[in-house]
Amino acid sequence: MATFRLYTLFFLCSVFFFSLQSHSEEDTPITRFQRYLRINTAHPNPNYTAPISFLVDQARSLGLTTRTIEFVKGKPLLILTWLGSNPKLPSILFNSHLDSVPAEADKWLHPPFSAHRTDDGRIYARGAQDDKCIGVQYLEAIKNLKSRGFSPLRNVHVSYVPEEEIGGFDGMEMFAVSSEFKELNVGFTIDEGQASRGDEYRVFYGERTPWSLDIRAEGIPGHGAKLYDNGATENLMKSVELIAKFRETQFDMVKAGKAAYSEIISINPVYLKAGTPSTNGFVMNMQPSVAEAGYDIRLPPMADPDVFKKRIDEEWAPSIRNMSYSILERGKLKDHLGRLIMTSIDDSNPWWSIFKQAVEATGGKLAKPEILASTTDARYIRTLGVPVLGFSPMINTPILVHDHNEFLKDTVFMKGIEVYESIINALSSFEGGSDQVN
Ligand SMILES: [Zn+2]
Repeated sequence: MATFRLYTLFFLCSVFFFSLQSHSEEDTPITRFQRYLRINTAHPNPNYTAPISFLVDQARSLGLTTRTIEFVKGKPLLILTWLGSNPKLPSILFNSHLDSVPAEADKWLHPPFSAHRTDDGRIYARGAQDDKCIGVQYLEAIKNLKSRGFSPLRNVHVSYVPEEEIGGFDGMEMFAVSSEFKELNVGFTIDEGQASRGDEYRVFYGERTPWSLDIRAEGIPGHGAKLYDNGATENLMKSVELIAKFRETQFDMVKAGKAAYSEIISINPVYLKAGTPSTNGFVMNMQPSVAEAGYDIRLPPMADPDVFKKRIDEEWAPSIRNMSYSILERGKLKDHLGRLIMTSIDDSNPWWSIFKQAVEATGGKLAKPEILASTTDARYIRTLGVPVLGFSPMINTPILVHDHNEFLKDTVFMKGIEVYESIINALSSFEGGSDQVN
């Protein structure tokens, strides 16, 4: 009994001490970032309720309007709005995703959902770079702008979407084509980007599109000892060689430094299938009648899909060599008006110049704009003809997306808030321009 009482006393004391400690934790941009990071939104079971209630609380304290939409049950998305003085002008949208990839906790220096901050300011957490940093920075920037009495001309929307890490099919893909999205009248969007190891910010104006290609050759079967023309494997191997040559010319451009990895067409064999393998030392004396190969293709946005298909049709799988093919297009390369899906990064796009100047006004420098090698939700918005830049203000930072020990330094996080203040200020004050400039 006495032991029990002692334990109870000890327990109560620790609860009291702990609550004192958590009460004394300051409420700063960094601690708010840590609180957001501690919510486990990793797949396969992301918690979407907790981050939304956290963000709604923050948004309400800033006087932003909030709206939650569920296109698929249990997969909500949140839209925050800061009304501009001329809400008829096309709005600015700042997007981030709520979910993250899983983390192998035993491979981390600090638990991935602890948001532990080291003495030198590194904040360790899954999502620290991808992309919970920007989700909080948007709000902190708005908070600072409000406290300085700034008010936007255009509406500023901030969206938090689910399921990006598993393709965005139940998130941004549905949102982008919804009436709710249309109502926002978005003229320009900023979505996530990636960290930069150097001291120039990276910015992305397009993404590569994945395709799967299956080619198939048919021919008459024959005895293993017979020599004859137009066999299935012979015809397939001709194509395999041609494709390998094309792959080499693309890869050579990267090796020679003439193109970035994400600017070339990559085509890699993923399977080869033909014939019947030998069993127990018994050789199948038969040349097969069908031979197949499969390829993973990544097309940069400047690649013309029609030219590429013509190459497959005429060189890689021509009917003249008894070949056929099928393509699974896992994304579009042209929008409904037939335009290539990438955002202009020249004077034809006024948003680009405003964005660039706003970053430079904070003492920052932009690196040469890039195509992202992977895909993000930005593609769904670009497909609508709305210009999108991928940007996460992280310089002098190792790229740790989806890696162990993902972290962001507190100073980099704080500088990012200042950069967004400048960006939100400039973009939302923009008076001119046509409605939808791509
Ligand atoms: Zn991401």
